[in-house]
Amino acid sequence: MLKRTKIVATLGPATDKPGILDQMIRAGVNVVRLNFSHGSADDHRRRAREVREISSKLSIPVAILGDLQGPKIRIARFKDDMKIKLAVGDHFALDSSLDTYAGDQTQVGIDYKALPRDSRPGDILLLDDGRVQFKVIDVQGSRINCEVIIGGPLSNNKGINRQGGGLSAAALTEKDKRDILVAAEIDMDYVAVSFPRSSSDLHEARQLLDAAGSNAEIIAKVERAETVSSTEALDDIILACDGVMVARGDLGVEIGDAELIGVQKHLINRARELNRVVITATQMMETMIQNPMPTRAEVFDVANAILDGTDAVMLSAETAAGDYPVEVVQAMTKICQGAEKHQLSRPAPTGISQRCEHFDETIARSAMYTANHLVGVKAIVCLTESGSTPRWMSRIRSGVPIYALTRNERSMRRMTLFRGVHPMLFDATGIDNSDLNHQVLETLKAQNLLESGDLILLTRGAVIGSGSGTNSMQVLQVP
Ligand code: PGA
Ligand code: MN
Repeated sequence: MLKRTKIVATLGPATDKPGILDQMIRAGVNVVRLNFSHGSADDHRRRAREVREISSKLSIPVAILGDLQGPKIRIARFKDDMKIKLAVGDHFALDSSLDTYAGDQTQVGIDYKALPRDSRPGDILLLDDGRVQFKVIDVQGSRINCEVIIGGPLSNNKGINRQGGGLSAAALTEKDKRDILVAAEIDMDYVAVSFPRSSSDLHEARQLLDAAGSNAEIIAKVERAETVSSTEALDDIILACDGVMVARGDLGVEIGDAELIGVQKHLINRARELNRVVITATQMMETMIQNPMPTRAEVFDVANAILDGTDAVMLSAETAAGDYPVEVVQAMTKICQGAEKHQLSRPAPTGISQRCEHFDETIARSAMYTANHLVGVKAIVCLTESGSTPRWMSRIRSGVPIYALTRNERSMRRMTLFRGVHPMLFDATGIDNSDLNHQVLETLKAQNLLESGDLILLTRGAVIGSGSGTNSMQVLQVP
């Protein structure tokens, strides 16, 4: 059974063991994430090479997404790598002029030198994803004096967020700029920008990628409170990128999980309305880092994101550093298939009154309307060059699979992220126009994706290879 929802899996030490990556891809991984927060450029090069080899050996398209570290704000380190324990009411200082290795029971350094300037008395600082919380008492030069309001252990390099967001750090750091060169060299399909504040950070990323010779599409990680505080702020981010990530780790800490529930739904809807793809990320199958089975709560969390309409669900430490990197993908695939069974078979028409600017968008909308209303449609077959028609199609809910045939390998890899789209290579150039439909259907029959008698919709341009774009839809019965 094909799954419609896509799986993004993060690579790391746990996926480097022999045979693991191969099994993960067979089990349903569509996109691998190379996380620039961990590992060296050589690690990323090696992993990208392995992914490409396995993908071509198995004939399963896999895209590569590079995730830039961004300005994640962290505390420095403690003397002798000790772990301290803080109790409610303790006084503790964060000091940007303190030596990197000088942390102790009363103070620790910070790598983001502007934090004292960004901090005000009364601010709540959330350390280690909110496990430890400080209230700022006052700021004296480089020193932020705090009172502990939620106590617990604290150790080297734990992250810091401010409740409500609003820290000023620019999204692209010097390290990110160097990593963009690596992304271009590896020819990554997608690059994720961490902590963008607004469209300008994403435009800057686009310029840097262009300058490095990369065509990668940009994923904006939505993880700052201020970017979800209004529809204008959110649209500004969405319109400046090719796809968004609901980066629930940092976003959840800044706005609180209770707010995150609605934000996830709104963000997924809005991304789809604006013709962007969307990945839902972080702690989806967290307990499977150590356990061979997910909890029921995790199963339902993944299913909920799928019912919300996400294109993809993501695994982080579950695959990169977990004990069950293959099992977690298998479990996630099953959840996808389970949730997809309960898609509405005749979804309410979306955007039915909306006007279109592009031919291919109109054809895509017509095809989806037909797929959802004509009784018995088994599949949509889409001949595409860039993948833009299947992208439009996959923004509209449907239970009908979309087989997207392209001669362009880059388009094929990009389409691996689109929900419900099954991309494959097919070179239509050189095939006589009158014979093309026949050859396409035979190709899909040979792969057992279609059977004689199936009713299908086929979209294509008038003359393949002319660059004229999709301008027709036909209703066909497979001979
Ligand atoms: P990260 O981003 O894993 O790079 O922090 C995702 C998130 O914040 O959820
Ligand atoms: Mn994050």
